[in-house]
Amino acid sequence: MNQRMISIIIVGARGRMGTALIREVMESEDLTLGACVDRSGGPGIGQDAGRLAGRTDLGVLVTDELRPRRGSVVVDFSLPKATETNVNACIEAGIPLIIGTTGLNEQQELLLTEAGERIPIVYAANFSVGVTLLLQLASVAAAALGPDWEAELIELHHRFKRDAPSGTALRIGQAVAEATDRKFSDVAITDRASLGRARQPEEIGVFGMRGGDSIGEHTLMFLGEGERIELIHRATDRAIFARGALRAARWVVDQPPGLYDMYDVLGLGE
Ligand code: NAD
Repeated sequence: MNQRMISIIIVGARGRMGTALIREVMESEDLTLGACVDRSGGPGIGQDAGRLAGRTDLGVLVTDELRPRRGSVVVDFSLPKATETNVNACIEAGIPLIIGTTGLNEQQELLLTEAGERIPIVYAANFSVGVTLLLQLASVAAAALGPDWEAELIELHHRFKRDAPSGTALRIGQAVAEATDRKFSDVAITDRASLGRARQPEEIGVFGMRGGDSIGEHTLMFLGEGERIELIHRATDRAIFARGALRAARWVVDQPPGLYDMYDVLGLGE
């Protein structure tokens, strides 16, 4: 029986995630590399994608223009500004999209919601299976413990990460808030130094640390009287995000238009 081949277009191909994605596609049996795109004028343009990823030449050169019809699905791990352009290009071509880029503002997230009416999109701040489960555990714990237990979150990432706190930390905070009937944007505190007051009961603190080469660590604490619960996820290999994003890519090609997340891909959604 012939195996169906899925052609992947990677945006942000020269980056840490882009090169991890190229390696995973090269190692898979059902995926091919349709095209690789990176920033116009950047050092990756014109280079062979396989070589960029530290492997043998593939015959796919990195370009600076996204043409979604060259593949079956576009996988974007770049910058929020690029994501805006890519969403519009995918809508025009009717091609599904996986978005791993974090740090999107409200307007850019709204664009994704609108785009979900036209094409299937999977958008997740974290494509690891472990973090997807942590999100669910956070909801269950927050709902069971109730608002008397104070929730605080710290995260650590490598020195190059641009957005802080991480998209994953914000997503975990949002899960805690929703499970306890709070609106996350009303209760999230990301900078306590400027407040000059004691902690308010409804607050959810979310704080980022940057340095070294950490791929990503998230610790959610529920702080009670005389006891404390900690839920911790530590990523030790960037390949987990690449594998999760490609799992989403295999899944999304058969979906109707909609804005999905990793819960949907893993079948954990309601
Ligand atoms: P990186 O800086 O190593 O790579 C980003 C790449 O995007 C670079 O090669 C850059 O040249 C390219 N780029 C910039 N502007 C572009 C444009 N206009 N068009 C095309 N390419 C462009 O960053 P990274 O560590 O690979 O992370 C990329 C993004 O993915 C970040 O937002 C990061 O937070 C996010 N991320 C998400 C997950 C997840 O699971 N969702 C996991 C890890 C990282």
